[in-house]
Amino acid sequence: MRLRNKPWAEDKIKQYPQYVVPEPEKWRGKWRELFGNSRPLHIEIGTGKGRFIAGMAEQHPDINFLGIERQPSVIVSALDKLIEKELGNVKLLNVDGSRLRDFFAKGDVERIYLNFSDPWPKKRHEKRRLTYRMFLKLYEDILVEGGEIHFKTDNQGLFEYSLQSFSEYGLLLKNISLDLHNSGFEGNIMTEYEEKFSAKGQRIYRCEAKYRN
Ligand code: SAM
Repeated sequence: MRLRNKPWAEDKIKQYPQYVVPEPEKWRGKWRELFGNSRPLHIEIGTGKGRFIAGMAEQHPDINFLGIERQPSVIVSALDKLIEKELGNVKLLNVDGSRLRDFFAKGDVERIYLNFSDPWPKKRHEKRRLTYRMFLKLYEDILVEGGEIHFKTDNQGLFEYSLQSFSEYGLLLKNISLDLHNSGFEGNIMTEYEEKFSAKGQRIYRCEAKYRN
């Protein structure tokens, strides 16, 4: 994500606590109270400018969504979408995904979306990839039993790495697509990166990985 410095971003985030949750630690194990209902909770890590999470919330009013993005200058674009759409079932967290255990107890989350995660192609940066085994353990610690990760990317190398990482961790792989946009998959919500890369003719890879516990 190319970052444009927006020095005003943090102030704007603070002005919308109804959309960017302040002190998310407070809601650990209690997200249903924050949303005011007991619908399932789906989270996206690396939400970027928020097209996916806002579109999913619109398409699935029966699900609560949280978009997690660590860059204030990026999450403000997602915030703008939520302000415009006025949806009650989606909020944002301006935090680092590596701290998920601080914000979610075991079973708080039904599904995790990873979309166009940074590929970190150098071997020495493997631990930063959001599909590295340490992240898979982190996800297991907050998901319901049998919870799922839904992953899509344009990056073949990251996709191959992730399939292997999921499989070595013992996850059950489902609905693998090597060309999502020509796969007949229904209800796909395009992310900003997805739109950019598919417009350049790049294929989109997708899979679902389910914990067996
Ligand atoms: N998902 C969006 C899309 O498809 O358009 C954005 C993709 S962009 C390549 C990756 C985003 O993930 C960046 O905005 C980055 O700041 C965010 N990100 C990367 N690692 C993260 C982490 N550990 N916690 C929260 N956000 C993260």
